[in-house]
Amino acid sequence: PVVTRFAPSPTGFLHIGGARTALFNYLFARHHGGKFLLRIEDTDRARSTEPAIAAILDGLGWLDFDHDGEIVYQFERAARHAEVARELLANGNAYKCYATAEELEEMRAAQRAAKAPLRYDGRWRDRVAGPEFDNQPYVIRLKAPREGSVTINDRVQGAVTVANAELDDMVLLRSDGTPTYMLAVVVDDHDMGVTHVIRGDDHLNNAFRQLALIRAMGWEEPVYAHVPLIHGSDGAKLSKRHGALGVDAYRDELGMLPEAVENYLLRLGWGHGDDEFIDRAQAIQWFDLAGVGRAPARFDLKKLENVNGHYMRLADDARLVALVTPRIAAAIGRNLTAADQDLLLRSMSGLKIRAKNINELADSAIFYLRTRPIPIDERAASLLTPEAGDLLAQVHRDLVVLDSWTTQSTEAAVRAIAESRELGLGKLAQPLRAAVSGSTTSPGIFEVLEQLGREESLGRIADAIQ
Ligand code: GLU
Repeated sequence: PVVTRFAPSPTGFLHIGGARTALFNYLFARHHGGKFLLRIEDTDRARSTEPAIAAILDGLGWLDFDHDGEIVYQFERAARHAEVARELLANGNAYKCYATAEELEEMRAAQRAAKAPLRYDGRWRDRVAGPEFDNQPYVIRLKAPREGSVTINDRVQGAVTVANAELDDMVLLRSDGTPTYMLAVVVDDHDMGVTHVIRGDDHLNNAFRQLALIRAMGWEEPVYAHVPLIHGSDGAKLSKRHGALGVDAYRDELGMLPEAVENYLLRLGWGHGDDEFIDRAQAIQWFDLAGVGRAPARFDLKKLENVNGHYMRLADDARLVALVTPRIAAAIGRNLTAADQDLLLRSMSGLKIRAKNINELADSAIFYLRTRPIPIDERAASLLTPEAGDLLAQVHRDLVVLDSWTTQSTEAAVRAIAESRELGLGKLAQPLRAAVSGSTTSPGIFEVLEQLGREESLGRIADAIQ
């Protein structure tokens, strides 16, 4: 059975690269009917924070990457990590190193002077400590193979080989008894039964050392897939300027839908022919490691916005109303009533086809809920000339006597005026839109009249005439 995991370090928000790693692990596990586990790598006590953990969980929840089983907190497992270090010590695959910090600094200084790579030289590898070291602090190091080489058949990178001579004997347990990150990852992956390690290719170098440790324990080796990192649209490493924001910013500041972010992240570094819109069910069916590209993906906010527009049009109207409600309430300075929300619901199908994100959608919907006299933007105001005032006065006279107030009846009345005056419909519809919506863009103006209702519509027209 396939077991994957997402193992973020809680030192900051869940960024877009981390979200993509989570997605790939999630989809791979679901595709194979396996498990997707979550491990919080909080062993770096100085840099791990509670708010960062909360942000990661919040981001994963929003994206709906539901994990299996309990969350594993790495720090809580320190005793188990130490136990494995002692086991390696007992079976001869690790050793105690009593080298002092000054001694190691001297060693490195000499290596630097000789322009040699900085590596622990194995000085305690075969040395037996005399009684004078009895109460001296020591670290436990892995006795890594020195001859030959290690090859990883990475599912994304292909076969990658490193000579063992290039890997020094890494520290497993520090002198204070705390495990190193390298030890913790290997022990946790093993204990959690992880079969596939899918992560950023910045961890490829670690994989060789981790593999040495796995082999020393005689544990089963996982399949590795190191995914190229995401770059900015200009090819440079992704930074804030390119949109390297927390996923919460995609939700709150950019007004994106989670399924759009997911679809975009999926296509960022993985492909299925030319398919652009791939929903969750299809993604689970199609996802494979063979489709992951070897070149760094380029993040493009414009493309993400287009994908978002697509999902906005597909989204359920009631869900969109719920999403715009807090934004509109903040903009108009009051809570929305049930009648307000009902009005938004009736208007949503016309609004959502024009908006690329939830913020735009909220902006475009606000005019429905404004209190008279509504604000008129500059472009709309320029349409409300004295001539337009005359036309609107007639529109008001003819609409006020209508028996029924519908899209069709209001349109018929306005068309009749246009015909009798030999004007194009736009000559009336444009100032009418300006008066009723306060802007030059809105859903179909006669639908807007129907949704707003007779009284409010006539009031807004009257306000614009004076
Ligand atoms: N905690 C590491 C990170 O956030 C990931 C380690 C791993 O996936 O093995 O980059």
